[in-house]
Amino acid sequence: MSSWQTAVFFGHGNPMNALALNGYSAAWQRIGAEITRPKAILAISAHWYGPGTAVTASIAPPTIHDFSGFPRELYEVRYPAPGDPALARRVQGLLAPVEVGLDGSWGLDHGTWSVLQHAYPAADIPIVQLRLDATRPAAFHFEMGRRLAPLRQEGIMIMGSGNLVHNLSAYAWGRENVDPYDWALRFEAAIKGMMEAGDDQGLVHYDALGPDAALSVPTPEHYLPLLYVLATRQGDEAVRFPVAGVDGGSISMLSVQLG
Ligand code: ZN
Repeated sequence: MSSWQTAVFFGHGNPMNALALNGYSAAWQRIGAEITRPKAILAISAHWYGPGTAVTASIAPPTIHDFSGFPRELYEVRYPAPGDPALARRVQGLLAPVEVGLDGSWGLDHGTWSVLQHAYPAADIPIVQLRLDATRPAAFHFEMGRRLAPLRQEGIMIMGSGNLVHNLSAYAWGRENVDPYDWALRFEAAIKGMMEAGDDQGLVHYDALGPDAALSVPTPEHYLPLLYVLATRQGDEAVRFPVAGVDGGSISMLSVQLG
């Protein structure tokens, strides 16, 4: 088991975490320093969500600033990690017969670089990003993760980036120390319990949690990257939560680590 590369789901939260040194970003630094250095990273970000599965195939993926209304310094961030076209083709092979497009236009979005700025500030580990197929249900995404699991044996880090609870209409922009909503805490606790119990079906069918799920996951793109990471779990492999907290009342910053 020790030869399996670590897989991590990061709760990325506010894009400004890319520039901030706070409890979350300090923990991301620590994760990067502590785990075995990966040969490459396959990143599944909430912020590349569209029709059809695809992977970035360029040798120099651009830094994508996929947000608006933030300070100029955030638009000036560049994360110049190289791409890995061979890994992109390997992902195509693992996911066949699902069609996986080789994309030359997308690059690394802030779901990926806001975290990796801290975890791997040298930007010297090759990265491929995978586009979440917005037309498919959660069970499909879990199955995609299961097929990608062998990459962990090859020294590839599976990185999910989203937020287990992500409700921007309830988010307290610019206000600190806001008490988390009860529904956010209940949903996070229920999902944590399922992760600890290895209840994969419960995790896939999270919407069975009713109104708490509807408020915590109003749209699925920030939740689905978690399924890719959890689907690579081997047997009774332990699940750990190296970062925790709720930002602005309605964004869970929980990180989930395997290996
Ligand atoms: Zn996000």
